[in-house]
Amino acid sequence: MQGLVVKNTGNDVWVRFDDNSVKMCRLKGTFRLQGIKSTNPVVVGDKVEVDDNNQISDILQRKNHIARRPTNLSRQIHIIASNIDLAFLIVTIKQPETSTVFIDRFIASAEAYGIETVLIFNKFDLLDNYDREYANKLMIGYQSIGYKCISTIAKDSVGIDSLYNLIANKTVLLSGNSGVGKSTVINALTNKNIAKTAEISSYHKKGMHTTTFSEVYCLPNKAFVIDTPGIKGFGVVDMDKSEISHYFVEIFKHSKQCRFPNCIHIHEPNCNVLKAVEQGEISPLRYNSYISMIEEVSAESKYR
Ligand code: GDP
Ligand code: ZN
Repeated sequence: MQGLVVKNTGNDVWVRFDDNSVKMCRLKGTFRLQGIKSTNPVVVGDKVEVDDNNQISDILQRKNHIARRPTNLSRQIHIIASNIDLAFLIVTIKQPETSTVFIDRFIASAEAYGIETVLIFNKFDLLDNYDREYANKLMIGYQSIGYKCISTIAKDSVGIDSLYNLIANKTVLLSGNSGVGKSTVINALTNKNIAKTAEISSYHKKGMHTTTFSEVYCLPNKAFVIDTPGIKGFGVVDMDKSEISHYFVEIFKHSKQCRFPNCIHIHEPNCNVLKAVEQGEISPLRYNSYISMIEEVSAESKYR
């Protein structure tokens, strides 16, 4: 039988089937030995084949996955989740403030993995006129380069309907710095149809609820929301310096007219990206985030 991995605690893998049942399964012993260079062979979001003994006999081909390196020095990677259609990044202007560098790094990583990002600007109720103007400017900027932005007041369920409608039939990764309102958004999304999501709460009552592991919430509109507690964002594993501009869509667009094909847009002559920054066609905040990623990759490559 085929199912979806909704939780993985290391030894136990929880699989959800089409009839909404959730079963605790184990990997077949031999499966662990396959040459996967990851600390974890099966992850939340995986579609798996389960036999009559609740043993996982196969992992279906992943559409994509996101990963991180546990530390700068580790050779192995840790896969966080797979088969993601959409990433929701929850950000706040205040309490806490989410930096644009954090937002842009997240977006660039998602681009690298081929995942579309939607920015959720939460806690809009906390903004005075001045903050609101700043938030609107940011949203217009991100929208102009192709990222959908939605403002919410999750604690009052304002804007939650738009999120709910956007994710029907999709697997969505929910991310954001701690304190931005991820849990509040999940509660607002699941409370919408509390009766139909009863299986989620009964599943929690089994005492399996923990905040350490990624978890999937199955909504009545067939959306799967993956919550990855403790993982604020995700980094791109093994990104090359010259690759970074590919994941800043507007920088990439302008880079096609740079004089040198290997231009990294810092100090090269006739760099069309620098020209676009000067002329205000590329936001200085975005360019700043780009530089910060270049610097990080340069620093990391010293360790390896
Ligand atoms: P998480 O760490 O991202 O899961 O954040 P939580 O969902 O736990 O929210 C952190 C705090 O922010 C809690 O006290 C929430 O009540 C509060 N919060 C969440 N959404 C909003 C909002 O839209 N407006 C305001 N003012 N507070 C919010
Ligand atoms: Zn250039």
